[in-house]
Amino acid sequence: MKIAARVGKIQPSLTLAVSAKAAKLKAEGKDIVAFGVGEPDFDTPEHVKAAAVAALQTGVSKYTAVSGTLELRAAVAEELGRAHDVKLVPEQVIISVGAKHSLYNLLMAFLDDGDEVIIPAPCWVSYPELVQMAGGIPRLLHTRPSEKFRFDEGALRSLVTPKTRAILLNSPCNPTGAVYDGATLDAVIKVARAHPEIVIVTDDIYRRLVYGVPWLSIAKRAPDLANRIVLVDGVSKSYAMTGWRIGFCAGPRELIGAMDTLQGQSTSNPTAIAQAAALAALTGSHDPVEAMRLEFDRRRQAMVARLGAIADVKLVTPEGAFYCFPDLSAYLDTKMRDDIALAEHFLQHGVALVPGSGFFAPGFVRISYATSMAQIEKGLDRIATALSALRLSTNLG
Ligand code: PMP
Ligand code: GLU
Repeated sequence: MKIAARVGKIQPSLTLAVSAKAAKLKAEGKDIVAFGVGEPDFDTPEHVKAAAVAALQTGVSKYTAVSGTLELRAAVAEELGRAHDVKLVPEQVIISVGAKHSLYNLLMAFLDDGDEVIIPAPCWVSYPELVQMAGGIPRLLHTRPSEKFRFDEGALRSLVTPKTRAILLNSPCNPTGAVYDGATLDAVIKVARAHPEIVIVTDDIYRRLVYGVPWLSIAKRAPDLANRIVLVDGVSKSYAMTGWRIGFCAGPRELIGAMDTLQGQSTSNPTAIAQAAALAALTGSHDPVEAMRLEFDRRRQAMVARLGAIADVKLVTPEGAFYCFPDLSAYLDTKMRDDIALAEHFLQHGVALVPGSGFFAPGFVRISYATSMAQIEKGLDRIATALSALRLSTNLG
């Protein structure tokens, strides 16, 4: 079968591939600690599940408006309005099939062929591919662990060209766990102010998962840029609702209208029952969300401590999301050439994790702590063993 040329240009999602591989090995009876996928291990909160059951029982089984139900759009407008201290109306909100779908629709709606999008890296595997699927060109802004993966105005400015249409931010960041400080956001604001054609897209899907630092909204810091800031968010991570597939986007009406047109001719509305569940998540008690955050923090501290005790593992303490992103390049040599081989080596030792090159950070690996403390202990024992085996076989030993 001849496959369309456009697919040949797209890399399959490495995060999803690693989790599929771990699941397959587990199904074959292998004892694998899954540190691969970025997905909470918690169950969806009870009141959210109850809302979905009630929706089913009261006849919620029909199409909704393409952009989502008015109730959910209003709830998102209120929630994001509060988080970013901006005024939003439901017409500025569109609900899609996960935040990944929100980003897809967004980029399809506003990029023309050859338009450039600046993406601070390391970054989530899907951003550059999503940009390319929409005909755009990703321009990676490489950041360093020594600067906590932040960047300054000069570095950002150096990537701006007449073709730049957007800057895509993600704080807390997948994979680094970095949370942007005011200075980094101000650098973006200054560059955006100097270039009226640039739109700021901010993917805040991990916004509620921060530990001991404040999460800062760029929209709140720059009210003058309100008509050029697009907010992407969703329920997957904070509410343990990855499988429900609900994400949202808020921005200028004409952009949301364009996304509605695309969505209306592709998927139509996201699942009606999942929308009812997302409404309950946003408007109901947030106690379960806080309980999950506290548990993530406990696990984060445990993982940071364990990694810190292994020689030559360089780690910037993550302040958000649920990933540790250590630099293991000290373990690479002619025998263990790169992080992909290293990830394979860890798999031989019963640990699935994602090689850093998938996030444009060769020599690093991403370890998710969205799993139980028992799995974290077991997995870290195995990582320590796997690395000491390497030390013995290389000049590090
Ligand atoms: N953005 C980032 C940074 C992510 O890590 C993810 C994880 N899947 C998403 C967006 C998409 O989330 P979802 O489609 O599950 O809402
Ligand atoms: N975002 C998660 C991850 O990075 C889920 C998988 C995906 O969609 O990439 O692992």
